[in-house]
Amino acid sequence: MSNSHHRRFNVEFHEDLCKGCGLCVHMCPHHVLVQSERLNRRGFHPAEYVGEGCTGCGICFHTCPEPSGIDVEPHSPTSA
Ligand code: SF4
Ligand code: SF4
Repeated sequence: MSNSHHRRFNVEFHEDLCKGCGLCVHMCPHHVLVQSERLNRRGFHPAEYVGEGCTGCGICFHTCPEPSGIDVEPHSPTSA
């Protein structure tokens, strides 16, 4: 069962909903999330995607205590 299909994903954070708990950062199996040094409007350090390496597993989405804190979406280039 080889998966040579390299699908790319984009992880989008709703920064001002983030409470900086860091759960997604710790739970991501690929270590592609980090906590920003910036502060959001609520005074927390929001999580950020480093920009590559996400496999779309959805763990961060399910881990986040904020219902709309994170979106993980396929990011498929139109070129084959
Ligand atoms: S979907 Fe999975 S791989 Fe992608 S950022 Fe979230 S936890 Fe990490
Ligand atoms: S799990 Fe949600 S609230 Fe916690 S740091 Fe990640 S995005 Fe922010």
